[in-house]
Amino acid sequence: MTTEELREALLSAPKNGLTQITAEQRREMEEYCRRYSAFMDACKTEREATTWTVATAEAHGFRPAVPGMEVKPGDKIYYNNRGKSILLAVIGNEPLSAGANICAAHVDSPRMDLKPHPLYEDSEIAFFKTHYYGGIKKYQWTCIPLAIHGVVYRKDGSVITVTIGEDDSDPILVVSDLLIHLAADQLQKTLAKGIEAEQLNVILGTEPIEGEGSDLVKLNILKLLNDKYGLIEDDFHSAELTIVPAGKCREVGLDRSLLGAYGHDDRVCAYAEIEPLLDMGTPKHTAVCILADKEEIGSVGISGMQSQAFEYFMEILCDAQGVKLSHCFANSFCLSADVSNAFDPNFAETCDKRNNSRLNYGVAICKYTGARGKSGASDASAEAMGHVRTTLDNAGVQWQIATLGKVDQGGGGTVAAYMANRNIVTVDAGVPVLCMHAPMELVSKYDCYMTMLACKAIYLA
Ligand code: MN
Ligand code: MN
Repeated sequence: MTTEELREALLSAPKNGLTQITAEQRREMEEYCRRYSAFMDACKTEREATTWTVATAEAHGFRPAVPGMEVKPGDKIYYNNRGKSILLAVIGNEPLSAGANICAAHVDSPRMDLKPHPLYEDSEIAFFKTHYYGGIKKYQWTCIPLAIHGVVYRKDGSVITVTIGEDDSDPILVVSDLLIHLAADQLQKTLAKGIEAEQLNVILGTEPIEGEGSDLVKLNILKLLNDKYGLIEDDFHSAELTIVPAGKCREVGLDRSLLGAYGHDDRVCAYAEIEPLLDMGTPKHTAVCILADKEEIGSVGISGMQSQAFEYFMEILCDAQGVKLSHCFANSFCLSADVSNAFDPNFAETCDKRNNSRLNYGVAICKYTGARGKSGASDASAEAMGHVRTTLDNAGVQWQIATLGKVDQGGGGTVAAYMANRNIVTVDAGVPVLCMHAPMELVSKYDCYMTMLACKAIYLA
């Protein structure tokens, strides 16, 4: 063989997907990304994603899981976990003792939650106090348009939904930063300390209501909320109100090859999991889609992936077939669908370029996450990686390898470890993201499309 032939035969030679894509694929990719963008505009919280998915699934013939129900191949079933997480399944021809093919993403994203007693007035400005949720760089959340999303459980037991800041006619909210002219001391601080958590106070208004006292601006804000939503101050004690970046998912770049939005992590994988499930025929193995909550704070709580809610749902399906849940889990496979960090040449020193995912190279497969010597990682086996490699290659899905940055630079985790704890073979994979956890995250359309095709291929494996 010549050297050139050897090179061709032996060396790994990944190619930018946009140089390989056919006209037909490009059309499908653009259509898929339009639908994904609409999903992102409708869903900025785990609640909104769950509500959207319940409605969409029901429109596609899914029905709620009920203990004791009968199921047959082709049946479409879902479990709404308290409005904050959802599990869906399409029953396969094989019994559940042969295992399920699972894709698991999360639908919560970093943000600022209102404290239980949030409303106050200082110097005739009304504010909400917040407690950030998930990992954020606090300075990124000042001086940008913000919206409020969430629900309030009122004294009379009724629950109301609040969304302010998304409609063009709505006001937006803002957290202030210090003017540069007076920032001599602030600029000496580290990025971590420049804006501190207790400074993430959201400006609500400045107009006092008529009368006497030091709470007239606050009172005016509460009156506005009472007029519109019937709220009183104590209602905040039984509320989940959250501050997220205002605005829509947008095309980014002069070539429109990227999508910019709040919360691609991890709704970009969540949507990639949902779409192929909706119109699926009867798969060989039961296909299961997980949209989990609380991943950003450790997959804890009743709606997080460590919760028994997953066992509850799977047991309903297994009981209907007289299958032991542990047998189903032992033979199942899970794609833990979560985003990876796309290589950013602006911060090249934080990554091992040879092992980092890149924009436009397809769905990123991650053997292990974790930090400092793989601590906390699921670390998929060679066999598990081989299964994914073969499945995606056979389906014509472009994929690449990902690791989360340079060794000892930092790290992170996903729901993978909690799926593997259940005796389910699990591999991490997802869309490469720039500026992960920032108010504006970037993904490439091509990688979004390939991740959807990857989820489809895993379901049908
Ligand atoms: Mn994630
Ligand atoms: Mn995250």
